[in-house]
Amino acid sequence: MAKPQLRITCKECGKRRIKARLTSGRKATKSLCQPCYDNDKASIFFGSSAGDWFTKRAIAHCTNSIPKDTDELIRLIKLYKQASSAKGWSCTQGEFALEYDYELCHKDPCKGDGFTGALVADNLFIGLKSVNREMGNIVPITNFGHRITSQGEAITSTNARAIIKELYDLERVVSECKLIRKLNKTFTDFTARASIEPSDLFNKILEGYGHDVEGYRLPPERVKEGFFTLHNLPRVLAYVFLTQYGKIEGYEPF
Ligand SMILES: [Zn+2]
Repeated sequence: MAKPQLRITCKECGKRRIKARLTSGRKATKSLCQPCYDNDKASIFFGSSAGDWFTKRAIAHCTNSIPKDTDELIRLIKLYKQASSAKGWSCTQGEFALEYDYELCHKDPCKGDGFTGALVADNLFIGLKSVNREMGNIVPITNFGHRITSQGEAITSTNARAIIKELYDLERVVSECKLIRKLNKTFTDFTARASIEPSDLFNKILEGYGHDVEGYRLPPERVKEGFFTLHNLPRVLAYVFLTQYGKIEGYEPF
């Protein structure tokens, strides 16, 4: 006589289940059936590169210095995705490399004297990693207005996920930001990145602040200084830094 089969049920819907698999064919670690696993938006959020990045960064913060609602979080996640895309990705004869070393930089630094620089899209920009590391937590000449002085609830590795689930509609974040689990990424997710070179990125940032950048371009040897101005000075001075080199005839950015 055949052995009776153990009845395994899905933790979410309670139906009998066959364990969910990832696109890669590996079995999912959660005790969910395939439809429930595919629809588990919180798990998709925390399993995505952007969600993982945000959760880790939020741990150095408090509830006052992270996005206040779902819309603000969506703006932040979209900026993170732009930064990833801007870095590009190349593969030459089997050698993988990032094309550009960018990272999200704070305007008002993360840790200041008596304040925390908010982890929100308005306080961040895509900058050069080297310049960001040099700036560290140096307090810039300009107060960009994102200095949080009253501490909220501290976010720790123990409560981070619960706070994030409570504050934001993760289902909307996942769908609007098109987040997928890291484990489900394919080769094309990397190779399809549209990289952007540093001087064009500098222009794009200033354009985002309403400056007319058409025809201007930083000479390559001035790009690093240009990014320093973004850390330290009001945007209008960063624009002056760009325009002092004059317009380049026939230059078509982006
Ligand atoms: Zn289920």
